[in-house]
Amino acid sequence: MSNKVKLTREEQTLLERALEAMRYAHVIWGFPVGAAVLGEDNLDYIGCNVESDVSGLGICAERCAIDHAVLHGNRRIRKIAITSESKAVRGLRPCGACLQYVKDFSQGDVKIITATSKDGRILPESVDRRTIREMLPLPFEIDLGLKLSQIAKKFEIAGIPWVVVSGAAVHLWTSRREITDVDILVPEEDVPKVGVLFDTEGKSWKAPRGTSFGVALRGFHIVGKVMVDEECRFVMDEEIVRRACPKKLFNIEVRVASVEDNIALKAMLQRGPDVGKRDKDDILLLKETHRDIDLQYLRRRLEVCNAVERTHAFLRSCGISI
Ligand SMILES: [Zn+2]
Repeated sequence: MSNKVKLTREEQTLLERALEAMRYAHVIWGFPVGAAVLGEDNLDYIGCNVESDVSGLGICAERCAIDHAVLHGNRRIRKIAITSESKAVRGLRPCGACLQYVKDFSQGDVKIITATSKDGRILPESVDRRTIREMLPLPFEIDLGLKLSQIAKKFEIAGIPWVVVSGAAVHLWTSRREITDVDILVPEEDVPKVGVLFDTEGKSWKAPRGTSFGVALRGFHIVGKVMVDEECRFVMDEEIVRRACPKKLFNIEVRVASVEDNIALKAMLQRGPDVGKRDKDDILLLKETHRDIDLQYLRRRLEVCNAVERTHAFLRSCGISI
């Protein structure tokens, strides 16, 4: 534990919410714990530990808070804060089961903020902040390759065109980026069809602040539209399909959207590490590995997306002038 951890206001608020949640803890054997998660909708959801007379039954505060977020439509969490008054534990940390749960519902490298509290106040010197990757370096993970082959087969049978975009696309174009999940772009009008294709597990999905719309599967987002606001939207058109290139992802034949289309998409979103994203780093990687970026096409794509003005300064800061 360090006394140097400086929390952002958002993290501070989340910790205070965890402290509030601790009041509701139902304790029989252990000690009260409160947790709060920041959902992809940017709202916080609290949870407390709920114990049972039957030993081994009950739930930790962390999983209670995540279930609470899921109940409100969040499939991904952005941050989690946990607090407890207990002196019985050495350094407050989530248990192994909760770490796996946090990983399962993570969007990027989620931050885990912990602190002990006393008489209803957080003890500042006890505050610690780590990432899920740091705390659970070898999580249980599903085989994305197997899932991708099933998705590819279904799309082929249904005749739905699809291209890999965003993080996985940057991985395919640069080989220098790890894959956290796979974003797939399909025609906007095909989204209801996709929903039917994956009926057993997929539900219509809306990303934080309504930026993406489509179907969320475990490890995959199949989107028909990415939007910053009503005017600024990224949707599939013939040129995106035509410019996409065949590549192999987990040994499965896929088509990946062009470098320019991915730069345009990331320049539109401009998301930072605070939300578990790295749009700027991805653009810089693409630029570094591709000296022959078609600036004329990039500009045209941004025009189609109605995003020239809002991306101008951001792209310039990445060394790209359009
Ligand atoms: Zn736990």
